Amino acid sequence: MLAALPDEFPGFSALPREIRYLMGCGNFEQFLATYQALAKPFAYCPFCDGQEKEETYIMDTMHWVLRHNEFPAKGTKLMLLIVPKKHITDPLEFTTYDGQEIMTLFRHAINHFKIAGGALVMRFGDPQFHSGTVPHLHWNIIWPAGNVEYRVALAKDDDAREENYRRLLGFRVRFNDQGGESVALA
Ligand SMILES: [Zn+2]
Repeated sequence: MLAALPDEFPGFSALPREIRYLMGCGNFEQFLATYQALAKPFAYCPFCDGQEKEETYIMDTMHWVLRHNEFPAKGTKLMLLIVPKKHITDPLEFTTYDGQEIMTLFRHAINHFKIAGGALVMRFGDPQFHSGTVPHLHWNIIWPAGNVEYRVALAKDDDAREENYRRLLGFRVRFNDQGGESVALA
C-alpha cells in the first residue's frame, strides 16, 4: 500500500482511500496502528480489539459499546466513544435499531458523567471529508474544557495535505527501516 507512492504530492484526490487515512496520522505509532488496521482489520482494529477492556469499558448494549477514548484531546474535559461491536465501515449498514442503542448509551453517558454540554459526532465515508484515521465507524462524545479553543477538524486545505503527505513519506522510510510489512503484520 506504500510502495507505489510518488515522491511528489500527486493531489489528495489522486490517492487511494487507505493513503488518505494514513495521511491523518500525526505520529509514527498512530501511523503503524492505522496501517495494521487497514491491512488486517480483524487482527489489528483498535475498536475490534479490547472492547471489554476494563480501563475503558463503561457500558454496552446488544451491538454497541460505550467506552472512554484512550487518547483524549487537549482542551477537552471528557471524551467518550460509542462503538459498534461489529467492524462496520459503511454507515448504510446501520439500522434504526442501532439508533435506539446509540441513544441508550448517549443518554447514559450524559447522566452518568453529568456532561454539561458538547457534541456527538461521527466521521464517515471518504477521509477527504472528515480527516479521520480509524475506518471502524464510531461516535465521539466530546465535552470541551470550555475555556480553551477546541475544534473538530473535518477538512484541510491543500498546503496542509501536502505537508501531511511529506510526513507520511517520512513514516514510510522508518517503516521500511524496521522491516516493512513482514514485520508490522507478523
Ligand atoms: Zn474494527
